Amino acid sequence: MRVVKTTSELREALNKSADLSIRRVLVPTMGALHQGHLELIKRARQDAGASGTVMVSIFVNPIQFDRANDLDAYPRPIESDLEKCVAAGVDVVFLPDASSMYHADRSVTVTESLLSSGLCGASRPGHFDGVCTVVLKLILLTGCHSAVFGEKDFQQLAIIRRMVRDLDVPVEILPCPTVRESDGLAMSSRNVRLNHEERADAPRIQRALVTAAERRDAAEMLAAARADIESSPLARIDYLLLVDAETLQPTADLKRPAILAAAVFYGDVRLIDHVMIAGC
Ligand code: AMP
Repeated sequence: MRVVKTTSELREALNKSADLSIRRVLVPTMGALHQGHLELIKRARQDAGASGTVMVSIFVNPIQFDRANDLDAYPRPIESDLEKCVAAGVDVVFLPDASSMYHADRSVTVTESLLSSGLCGASRPGHFDGVCTVVLKLILLTGCHSAVFGEKDFQQLAIIRRMVRDLDVPVEILPCPTVRESDGLAMSSRNVRLNHEERADAPRIQRALVTAAERRDAAEMLAAARADIESSPLARIDYLLLVDAETLQPTADLKRPAILAAAVFYGDVRLIDHVMIAGC
């Protein structure tokens, strides 16, 4: 496995293996790798084939953080991340620092203005501009044929697909299902920041969403999920919304596919989860 730390090193590493018939697959991450990331890497290998190149980027992208304490506290266990990448059969790890990715006077940002207006976009100003900008840069830098993203971050996935469509970015986007702990909590690099009580309580988010999703009325669904989550003294709802699965705009129409989504704070750790609701 090769580890490269700057954009010029990456270009050099990729130029040496410039055979364009060899499939290159990218898994963008912010590190603190867990089983969810490893499933994305498996999906990447399936797509790349044995002779293809699986690339993992590990970059805690400063321009997608809206809270300085979240950026500072983000876990960065780089040695164990690299061990996990070796064990997972990754070919290239791209591990840049912020000064290698961003010029001090950078002045171009990618903005998606529709799908990012609500949900995490409303709570985290500038977040998806930062995500789109870094993902487009990583796609261009690596020249990947495809890139893998988790469905856990369904809004991010939808926005990246829209960016790729609207800007004709020559890359295939491959989705990967959400990986959960045995108690149902969606795996996240932020879970390690929960204290013992918070970690024990956090699976209620998924339980509340799944149970509420059985209701056949949108208002009842939202009220049930809210009551369930708010019955915990540890959990504070950032948002709880039912949105149309395609437009991501709030909806009360359960005839079309929809998503019941929540962001919940435990202390200053913000967790997101959702359930899909098939239209009837
Ligand atoms: P992150 O390192 O949190 O930026 O995530 C990197 C990629 O891994 C994104 O495409 C996420 O959607 C995906 N991911 C993170 N957690 C999970 C999970 N529990 N299941 C599936 N994919 C995930």
